[in-house]
Amino acid sequence: MTSLANLEQALPGRLLRPDADGFAELTAREFAALGDPPAAVAQVSTTADVVAAVRGARDVGLSVAVRSGGHSYAHHSAGPGGLVLDVRGLDSVSIDPDALVGHAGGGATAGAYSRAAGEHGLATGFGDTGTVGVAGIALGGGIGFLSRRDGLTVDNVLAAEVVLADGSVVTADAEHHQDLFWALRGGGGNFGVVTGLTLRLRPTAVTGGMLVLEPTPERLAAANQAVLDAADGLSAMINLLVAPPAPFLPPSLHGRPIMLVLVCWSGPEAEADSALAPLRALGEPLVEDIGPRAYTDILQGPPPSPQPLHPAMRTGFTDRLDEQWAATVLDAVTTATTFTAVNLRPMGGAIARVPVDATAFAHRHHAVMASVAAPTPDLTALPAAQAWADATARSLGLVGAGYVNFMSETTADDVAAAYPGAVLERLREVKRTYDPDNVFRYNHNVTPAPAGPGG
Ligand SMILES: Cc1cc2nc3c(=O)[nH]c(=O)nc-3n(C[C@H](O)[C@H](O)[C@H](O)COP(=O)(O)OP(=O)(O)OC[C@H]3O[C@@H](n4cnc5c(N)ncnc54)[C@H](O)[C@@H]3O)c2cc1C
Repeated sequence: MTSLANLEQALPGRLLRPDADGFAELTAREFAALGDPPAAVAQVSTTADVVAAVRGARDVGLSVAVRSGGHSYAHHSAGPGGLVLDVRGLDSVSIDPDALVGHAGGGATAGAYSRAAGEHGLATGFGDTGTVGVAGIALGGGIGFLSRRDGLTVDNVLAAEVVLADGSVVTADAEHHQDLFWALRGGGGNFGVVTGLTLRLRPTAVTGGMLVLEPTPERLAAANQAVLDAADGLSAMINLLVAPPAPFLPPSLHGRPIMLVLVCWSGPEAEADSALAPLRALGEPLVEDIGPRAYTDILQGPPPSPQPLHPAMRTGFTDRLDEQWAATVLDAVTTATTFTAVNLRPMGGAIARVPVDATAFAHRHHAVMASVAAPTPDLTALPAAQAWADATARSLGLVGAGYVNFMSETTADDVAAAYPGAVLERLREVKRTYDPDNVFRYNHNVTPAPAGPGG
């Protein structure tokens, strides 16, 4: 039996074993967990706690998983058999409106940070959901409603405080630990526990919401192109699905294929109508609910499922936007026998202007990020859901390039797709420097490069 006595002493009352009251609530996450429970959960709320927890775990040979917002599609923050560091207590947020800089603790959520920033009319771009952890999304990339204007979340990270595998604390930024700073921005939780992030803010007022259209291949291809051709202030997420009986969709649409476009215009308000005109011109909307909103309001994301889901999700990047490709998307969704969805995020804009080797996010030169999902509450249906996701990803050519934040699996092929060629080699060198024993392996794992002849 692993002795965690030292750690129990360092974190009195905050190290929970599987038989402890509250363990089930503590380990609950957005998605149903697979596999064994963790050996213990350490509830940490300061950098010193994290140092103690990392050292304590190492003393007894446990790997460390980090749980922030709990939204990992691949269940990484579940840490089967290891020590889960529950960093939700590191939830500080501070905003410096004069310097246009925000600070988020390693367990703060995108929603909490954005509400604080919004009080000053400022925002940092995250994804579409406020309950996602700032660190969780930032470490993988961060493609969302402000990305075409401001770049990915990683492009707005100015510094990170990190507890390394040996328990030391470093700050990585453009001047210090540059290799680590590069790797953290896309390389996920491979390199340490992020206890705080400093992020760039920008004055932000948005016009956004939802446009629902009858899906056709022409419309789908044209919608993608319209966003790519638009000014940088327009970001959008284009979803193809058979409408579920969701309260935000009129009952007349339930069971019908729809193209649900979530839009966000973050340019000058006076230009919102002209920016949105090409999307509105695609056809008579089945539903339109677009208007000036607080950025935090469009960060609501989908309501949590009433039942725990198994996500079955595949991602990729593509430059194909033609009608034949769009027809394949539609066909996949409309012929599926269970609920499925394809999500397309046109990129370009500020995302594409950052040099591709500036961060470990390796796919910014592509036109569109695509994800295909077949979430199911039924574990016995998971193999079929995964087979649909695999076949759809293949038919759409989504192979060889993947987005870590949207992967529900983590095979070596997935890691190679997330970090193609030289990117993986460079990450492995950084891993060797900062985590040679692979203590942080509950992630899309980058294994350390072998030690060179010198050691
Ligand atoms: C409903 C939903 C909507 C989403 N929308 C978007 C979106 O619009 N755009 C987008 O880009 N992504 C999106 N994602 C994906 C999301 O960004 C990733 O799943 C992300 O990893 C979640 O972070 P988390 O902190 O919430 O999750 P967790 O499960 O807590 O963490 C996931 C992993 O991130 C790492 N990690 C988290 N915090 C830390 C830390 N402090 N230090 C070190 N490592 C850490 C760990 O490896 C951990 O296993 C969405 C996910 C869901 C479920």
